[in-house]
Amino acid sequence: MTTSNAPALKIIALGGLHEIGKNTWVFEYNDEIMLLDGGLSFPDNMMPGVNVVLPDMTYLRENKHKIKGMIVTHGHEDHIGAISFHLKQFEIPVIYGPRLAMALLEDKLREAGVLNRTELRRVMPRDIVRVGTNFFVEFIRNTHSIADSFSIAINTPAGMVIHSGDFKIDHTPVDGEFFDLARLAEHGEKGVLALISDSTNAERPGITPSERAVYPNLEKYIMMAKGRVIITTFASSVHRVNMILDIADKQGRVVGVVGRSMLNVIAHARNLGYIKCRDDLFQPLQNLRHYRDDQILILTTGSQGGPMSAL
Ligand SMILES: [Zn+2]
Repeated sequence: MTTSNAPALKIIALGGLHEIGKNTWVFEYNDEIMLLDGGLSFPDNMMPGVNVVLPDMTYLRENKHKIKGMIVTHGHEDHIGAISFHLKQFEIPVIYGPRLAMALLEDKLREAGVLNRTELRRVMPRDIVRVGTNFFVEFIRNTHSIADSFSIAINTPAGMVIHSGDFKIDHTPVDGEFFDLARLAEHGEKGVLALISDSTNAERPGITPSERAVYPNLEKYIMMAKGRVIITTFASSVHRVNMILDIADKQGRVVGVVGRSMLNVIAHARNLGYIKCRDDLFQPLQNLRHYRDDQILILTTGSQGGPMSAL
């Protein structure tokens, strides 16, 4: 039971509410703050000269003594891209998140020279961690376009809060890691104080097909191609990249990878077993001239037409 004198749980979205990008949530109870995700967004055409867009961090700078730690749901830029900037302004003692996101984040923090300002801890499905004294956080496997993504159950003195993280319910996930809906249902049975749910285009009626549905068409069009095949997709779309590599291998094409983020994500995802393929499937770009055009597939970043990307 809570009484009127009990401290309130504050849940504040500094970014990511009614917008795509900058996902940054603050959970505050008593004198403790736990952050959930630290994302950025990219400038639109009205922001010439701007590289990245960050949420307004004034509240966190003013309350930095309260920050006990951060939870990361998954490795997309709009969920981890701002963390290196935050660490230059205030301390985050510990960051918990999935292995793939933590591997990508570690690269970013090292590059920004702030890796020593926090501690990165990898979690597995259904792990429970404590942040400060008030937040008990459980990681619940969900399905999303990037592998190794979580929904989050946050047990606080005021009650249970479920944060869905980004998700697409996919009953036949490419990596075989199913959405742990049973665990969410268990929390639902016990009672939930608040549900924070985020899925792009959730307002649109209908269902989104499984990622696997893309495979037959990809296979068909790559098969029909008489010359080189050049494919662009989000580097972080690990499942799609995995399928493309699989098809290239089956059809006797070697793969050249273009773009730093594509190389990074593939390397980390292979390390963690989310992408499975032979080493010699990949060829350095300068070796591709030794192959016929119909033996080559090039995988590149740039699917959004970004002026700085490889395509
Ligand atoms: Zn996402």
